[in-house]
Amino acid sequence: MIPQVGELYQLPETHLEAPMRLSQMPFKTLRETPAGVDFPGYAFLLRGRFLEERPGRGRWWLPWGAEVLRRLEDLARQGLVALGGVEVLPRGERAWSAPWQGLAALAAAEIRSYRQLPTLLFTLAAGGQDLPAPRRGLFGGPPAFGAWAFAALRTAEGRDRFLAGLREEWERLLTRLGLHGRWVEAAGGMANGGGAAWLLAWAHPAGEREVVECQACGYAAERAAAVPGWPEAPDEPLEPVQPVATPGATTIADLAAFLHLPPSRTLKAVFYTVEGRVLCLVLRGDRTVDEAKVARLLGGQVPRPSAEEELAQVGAVAGYASPVGLRGVTVWADPSAMRARNLVAGANREGFHLLHVNPGRDFQPDRVVDFARVEEGDPCPHCGEALRLVQAAELARVEALERVGSPYLDEEGKEAQWAAGAGHLNLEAILGAMAEQHHDAEGLCWPAEVAPADVYLLTLGGPGAEEAEGVADDLYRWLREEGWRAIYDDRPERAGVKFKDADLLGVPVRVTVARRGLEAGGVEVKARWEGDTRLVPRDGLGGYLAEVLRGKPNT
Ligand SMILES: [Zn+2]
Repeated sequence: MIPQVGELYQLPETHLEAPMRLSQMPFKTLRETPAGVDFPGYAFLLRGRFLEERPGRGRWWLPWGAEVLRRLEDLARQGLVALGGVEVLPRGERAWSAPWQGLAALAAAEIRSYRQLPTLLFTLAAGGQDLPAPRRGLFGGPPAFGAWAFAALRTAEGRDRFLAGLREEWERLLTRLGLHGRWVEAAGGMANGGGAAWLLAWAHPAGEREVVECQACGYAAERAAAVPGWPEAPDEPLEPVQPVATPGATTIADLAAFLHLPPSRTLKAVFYTVEGRVLCLVLRGDRTVDEAKVARLLGGQVPRPSAEEELAQVGAVAGYASPVGLRGVTVWADPSAMRARNLVAGANREGFHLLHVNPGRDFQPDRVVDFARVEEGDPCPHCGEALRLVQAAELARVEALERVGSPYLDEEGKEAQWAAGAGHLNLEAILGAMAEQHHDAEGLCWPAEVAPADVYLLTLGGPGAEEAEGVADDLYRWLREEGWRAIYDDRPERAGVKFKDADLLGVPVRVTVARRGLEAGGVEVKARWEGDTRLVPRDGLGGYLAEVLRGKPNT
């Protein structure tokens, strides 16, 4: 029978409570980890049904995950309001795909006078289509839900001070959540604003970013933003150039083997065509081109490898190419090539190379600029010690936007240009990092202030179950009246199943109402991060919760 509309309004009381009563919860926990999931925190999120993520169904945050995100959202909002931020909410596809751009347009349309500066606009929204990395678990890739901030300040110095404050605020937030991240110099990208950029890196093998760090002096940067500190060129006399027959040696590896030389004694030339002109990149033979660095040097254009006809036009011979003797090309040299001597380079003649080629003597680079991929063990730019490569997740990003800004009138009525900066706090990635950081073998262990609930209340079956259920129903009502967020496990399941789910969900306090405890005058309580249960009298529960939920240390 189809119910009448009027009947739908008269829902029984239990339906109004449904979200936190497990008997009413449509999403059931999973016993097994879904196939292909490598990281325990992510596996617990899927098993605990915080998150639904299957091909064809998209990604959904289910009730527990949505609650954790709401808690994180509140913390992010508090922090931005404390910095003087004003919250707005975007509408429509365009604004949602890249919220910072919408905020920039909003600020530019509004700010006319020095009296409106500084202005900090922020929004809590999904977006991030500008982030190019593929997603691994919860890290990287669009569309991530989070906080987006845009600031307009009178001067670039003011903007830089503000961005430093924003970095501090977000690092403090992470520390509060028990996560240890660090800001590193980033290769830009979110806003492509052409200014300095930093990302908040949280080291973890699931992370989508590569970060290099120096353990001796603390230098750290995203791999595509790192510049190694090459030692000075060796004190070696420059030998005269000499052709050498190298039949069939068309790769660096073949060439090095043929001449019994290490690849670092060869010169590599890589050709791209940019706006119809051939760009020859030269670097030491053992290095590879970092295309992200090249794209940044080209103002965001992705370079296209030159075709064979294009090479022929400038006089380059594939497999035997070098910048020596080319015409009509632009040559960029990496410092790795400039700080080497007497290299083997292509002769631009089939079957021949040149011995003792020296950059600056045998060809003139139009520009010396860093574009080689940084490798593990490369020298630190500050202290020369070996750099280490680590995987890290990007939890936040802050950028100076040199290309953004609009005119305003200063105190004297003269036109000036304001400076802009932007930031993104990726709350979904932070949730993922917390799951990896805060768990044990049984499940998640959320810090109290962002947990999906304060209390996991459950009853046990068997003799006396009816009385226990009555007490638990009362207790559930009381908890809600007192403002505690409770999940009530009122399912007709075995004790083992309920305890397992309580551990899996990671709610900070478990309260068990059972005959044995009631006979002893109370309810059994257990903190998620402790092994033992305790008996707490019914009227002492409020005090216990206040103490435990406020006192939970972050690990
Ligand atoms: Zn160093």
